[in-house]
Amino acid sequence: MQRAEPQEFSRVLSSMCTEPHPVARDAAERFLSSNPGDPGTYGTVSELEREAVDMLGTVAGLPDAAGYVASGGTESNLQAIRLARNRADTRTPNFVAPASAHFSFRKAADVLGVELRTAPLEEYRANLDAVAELIDGDTVCVVGVAGTTEYGRVDPISALADMAIDAGALCHVDAAWGGFALPFTEHAWDFSDADIHTMTIDPHKMGRAAVPAGGLLARGPELLDELAVDTPYLESTSQMTLTGTRSGAGVASAAAVMDELWRDGYAAQYRRARSNADWLAAEMRTRGYGVVEPILPIVSIDLPEALIGDLRGAGWRLSRTEAGEARVVCMPHVTRSMLREFLGDLDRLSA
Ligand SMILES: *Cc1c(COP(=O)(O)O)cnc(C)c1O
Repeated sequence: MQRAEPQEFSRVLSSMCTEPHPVARDAAERFLSSNPGDPGTYGTVSELEREAVDMLGTVAGLPDAAGYVASGGTESNLQAIRLARNRADTRTPNFVAPASAHFSFRKAADVLGVELRTAPLEEYRANLDAVAELIDGDTVCVVGVAGTTEYGRVDPISALADMAIDAGALCHVDAAWGGFALPFTEHAWDFSDADIHTMTIDPHKMGRAAVPAGGLLARGPELLDELAVDTPYLESTSQMTLTGTRSGAGVASAAAVMDELWRDGYAAQYRRARSNADWLAAEMRTRGYGVVEPILPIVSIDLPEALIGDLRGAGWRLSRTEAGEARVVCMPHVTRSMLREFLGDLDRLSA
């Protein structure tokens, strides 16, 4: 069989993942055979995980954070709903999330047997009145998104947290993608801004770690106790992760790249992404296309369906929003010259 090669990133506009930073790649290779799921045996990678969680806490405004490096945002979101369910005293639990919430919450609802109540949006963000209407005595968690998948919007996190607390529920923030951009903005989104309990923040997206490296953070270790199960045959005595054997590569690469890039490296990366997003939005408007104002560096453009198809045919990896817009995620591999080339193809194909 011919040796398969991974895709290049030179025409990828649709992905929330990117090329790992060189230090992430190097660390991933070195720790390929370490299993942080068994800390008694693999002590070094467990220490790296502790460091990674500390750094994620620093990024998210929470010194001494509790948490772990998960397989991704899906696992972290599921675990957040699981711990909220387990600590609540109801046999018919529900959680409330805005319609913009990632589809992983639908999986969580299904797997956990917790009803998902979806609140409509207002200007692409959670409508607080609608959320309030859906909360009741069986609500175990209220979800806010800090950096929505389609439009990069940030929900009113403080207000959502207050509503959760009033209801005796937890507040979970999904910053899977936005977490490494938001520290360089004015948005209120993190543990220091609001009384949130848990957060998803993924090093393998804007953090430039190797896949798989997600993050689950909790305000206190006691919140995570709800997830612990006894582990009779391991040297350690309990495990709170969803997966058993886990990727040491993901953990080591996350620790290495955050050490390298936090904070100036990520700040510079954000500024580049931001200016590319603003530039692309302006270029598209000049051409007469409607653009959803980019809040974080995601640009959604109202392009004709046929043109999106032609651009895909020209090799551009371009995804669509539910409403049908073309969606360009300005990840670190998306450079200005790449966007110029994209516009060149767009002009040629639409002429
Ligand atoms: C990507 C994403 C997820 C899912 O994360 P995976 O790592 O793909 O499992 C969840 N929430 C948001 C907001 C995301 O952007």
